[in-house]
Amino acid sequence: MVTHVPSYCPHCGHQLTTVEREGRPRHCCPSCDRVVYRNPVPGAAVVVVDGDSVLLVQRRIDPGAGRWCDPGGHLEVDERPAVAAARELEEETGLGVDPGGLTLVDALQMVPWGEKYVVTIGYTVKRRETTGALSPGTDARAARFVHREDLSTVEFAFDYVPGRLDRALALFD
Ligand SMILES: [Zn+2]
Repeated sequence: MVTHVPSYCPHCGHQLTTVEREGRPRHCCPSCDRVVYRNPVPGAAVVVVDGDSVLLVQRRIDPGAGRWCDPGGHLEVDERPAVAAARELEEETGLGVDPGGLTLVDALQMVPWGEKYVVTIGYTVKRRETTGALSPGTDARAARFVHREDLSTVEFAFDYVPGRLDRALALFD
């Protein structure tokens, strides 16, 4: 299972060929007869809501470097989505949260970045349920709460973000 278009078999290193299987072109290994499936990568993020404001981070790296999104990132291989979301929140903003206290907002497919497809799982939590002081971490240039009326002025890193922020805010209205 890979995220990018594979050229070589990850099991035996043989060059792959493309064959039709299950109505899709699949990458197959002519040497060990395995199909190398290509799948999206899951990510998880948290919208922290403080009254009429939401917490955004300014991304340090591409895709979307310099633009803003909800704090989040990829799941480690054995990590549950809510645990990953809580870990990424703390890494990027300094705020701690109990993964069990997160509320699911949505799960959606992001616009692909090159060959990489990501499914992002969005959670939300109220600011008062979090601990610690706000301080941007290693993957974020900045972290700040933005009032809902000012969201139209924000340059978002990804198309999904404004809709997710609206859904998170609506959960606490
Ligand atoms: Zn092989």
